[in-house]
Amino acid sequence: MSTATTSIAANHIGGAWIRSLSAEYFDIKNPATSETLASIALAEPSDVAAAVDAASAAFPAWRRTPPQERIQYLFKFKRLLEEHSTEIARITTEENGKTLAESLGELQRGIENVEVACGIPTLMQGYNLEDIAAGIDEMMIRQPLGVVAAITPFNFPAMIPLWFLPYAIACGNTFVLKPSERVPLTARRLVELLEQTGLPKGVVNLVVGGKSAVDTLLHHPDVKAISFVGSTPVAKYIYAEGAAHGKRVQCQGGAKNFVVVMPDADLEMTAKIVSDSAFGCAGQRCLAVAGALTVGEASREFPRALLELAAKIRVGNGLDDGVQMGPVITPDSKARISGLIERGLEQGAEMLLDGRTGGGDAQGNFLRPTVLAGVSESNDLNGTEIFGPVLSLREAADLDDAIQMIARNPYGNSSAIFTSSGNSARKFRYESPTGNIGVNIGVAAPMAYFPFSGWKDSFLGVLHGQGRDGVAFYTDQKVVVERWPKEWTRKF
Ligand code: NAD
Repeated sequence: MSTATTSIAANHIGGAWIRSLSAEYFDIKNPATSETLASIALAEPSDVAAAVDAASAAFPAWRRTPPQERIQYLFKFKRLLEEHSTEIARITTEENGKTLAESLGELQRGIENVEVACGIPTLMQGYNLEDIAAGIDEMMIRQPLGVVAAITPFNFPAMIPLWFLPYAIACGNTFVLKPSERVPLTARRLVELLEQTGLPKGVVNLVVGGKSAVDTLLHHPDVKAISFVGSTPVAKYIYAEGAAHGKRVQCQGGAKNFVVVMPDADLEMTAKIVSDSAFGCAGQRCLAVAGALTVGEASREFPRALLELAAKIRVGNGLDDGVQMGPVITPDSKARISGLIERGLEQGAEMLLDGRTGGGDAQGNFLRPTVLAGVSESNDLNGTEIFGPVLSLREAADLDDAIQMIARNPYGNSSAIFTSSGNSARKFRYESPTGNIGVNIGVAAPMAYFPFSGWKDSFLGVLHGQGRDGVAFYTDQKVVVERWPKEWTRKF
């Protein structure tokens, strides 16, 4: 917490930028330099309630705005996001630490969701059937829910709010965004640009706060649905608490992703892709590879190829040219990751590449890539989400053994296989129990027109984010059965 006495106005409520009167300040720090980028008074329950009230007030007119008109704001928003992409990416890099290229990449993924949501006049259509009985017709129409909210994590400050916001408002809902208090500046810029589209006041509101802000959203009777992305313990809390308060909830949780490296894979190419997946964004991607399960000959060749690449990764400030990996988000995070590595070693893992020291400027939260081998099933490293640049190697007897290892893991966000065999690939796709599957792909991130899946402890709910699932999540289905008897029709 900060000792600062002034802060920027971080909340956008009913079309105005509002500084919370809360006495609880939070400093937004650049993870690469420790410089304070801004100080924010964390929203208190009254701020959040005001945002929900503004969204409630905007809802009746917004839901009556034809979908075709609603999406015109999103077309303008897309253009503004593209025009300001470098500037937004810079803000993301400064507050999150990832490289400029990674920030631009995530923004692009976010823009693609805006594009898909522009298809709402088609995507939101229901269906109908004439003559379900003689002269009686039936139709299903989709209607917006009302006020919906999204609570988002630190690791994708631009993309993850955009997994939800465009679909929610295109469907006619009004929206409250509660981004991670560690990276609110990107979200703030997104909302400023949205404002420039002329979007009616109160349709999108922003509150920057912590747990008490989340609790206010969870308990507020006017919030009809909650979308959450973050760690599994918080996902479980939000899912239970939201449901207890009668809300529709979708929660994307933490991850522990494995790749299987088969002996028939192109090992040089595989090493490059796995290295990018494990160490890109400093391992702070929910689709990052955390464990590589090598089969047969791959157990000898793959580690050598991987270590060669991992040792050469250039760590530094994500704004600098040529940097491939930035810092982790906070000093606490760095200490937590180093502690987990230490614990893993105590429990029998073997250090192949030690990244705990020597990365980047001493002021920043830098780690270098770490590679460990012999991480047994019982080792804490195996089942714990590390969320840092650490890759564990394990040998599997065969593909069945590797799939069983994945199945025993509590998480189910993503898994991938590297192979040149169609048969192995098909078996893996069929049997591996994760919501996202890669075949010779290191980060199997679904495009905006597919659901961002996730199973087991990585997802709680029914409908996922993005695409058609997003539209179904943000609408209620209404079924109408209609009869117009001829004899009731007045003659003029
Ligand atoms: P986090 O769970 O700490 O925070 C996420 C959000 O919840 C933030 O807005 C935060 O303010 C709020 N929050 C934190 N603690 C809370 C509490 N006790 N009660 C109520 N709200 C609380 O997650 P993070 O550290 O910001 O993000 C990293 C996590 O997100 C990782 O576990 C990662 O795997 C996960 N993640 C998952 C996906 C996915 O698609 N499954 C995508 C991105 C990130």
